[in-house]
Amino acid sequence: MMNTDIQIKAIFKFRQGSIVMPAPSIEVSLDCFMCKKCNRTVVLKKDKNNSFCTTTFYTRHPFNGCIKKIRVNEIKVKKFFSIKILTEIIYDITYEYREFIDKRNKYADNNSNPLPNWARIYFNITCPKCHYEQRKFTQNNLHIPFTAVCDKCSCKLYKQTDKLPVFEMKN
Ligand SMILES: [Zn+2]
Ligand SMILES: [Zn+2]
Repeated sequence: MMNTDIQIKAIFKFRQGSIVMPAPSIEVSLDCFMCKKCNRTVVLKKDKNNSFCTTTFYTRHPFNGCIKKIRVNEIKVKKFFSIKILTEIIYDITYEYREFIDKRNKYADNNSNPLPNWARIYFNITCPKCHYEQRKFTQNNLHIPFTAVCDKCSCKLYKQTDKLPVFEMKN
C-alpha cells in the first residue's frame, strides 16, 4: 500500500488576543484511485473510519486517509524594529494513493497526482474584542485580499493576502 504524507499549512496574522481552534476535519481535493477520478473532494477526519470521498452530493465512500496531527503555532517574525506575531495552522495528513488515469478528460492532463492543489480549512476564532466565537474558513480559490470581520462586532480579525493553504510533501 502506498501512503502519501503531506502537510497542509495556512499562516495568518490574527488580531492580537484572538483564540483560534482548527476544526477536527479538513476538506481536500484528491485524486481518488477508488473512483478513478481526479479532484474529488475528500473529507479527512482524525479517525480514518470517518473519512470519506464525496462522489456526488448524496453518495460517498470510505476513504483510506486521516489527519495525523493538527497544530497551531505562534511564530515571531522580526520586521525592522518591530516583531510581528503570526499564527500557523498545520494539518499533517496521510492517505492512500495509487496512480491511475482519469478517463473523463481526454484533453487535459488526466494522469493522477499524489499532491492536492486545493483544500479548505475551517477554524473557530474567538473575537478578542467582544469574545464571540465564530467559524471562519480559507480555501485556495478564495478571492484575495480577503478581510475577515467579527460576525458580531464587525472588528477586523485578520486580512488574508496570500493564497492559502500551502501543501508540502513529507518524506
Ligand atoms: Zn472516491
Ligand atoms: Zn467581535
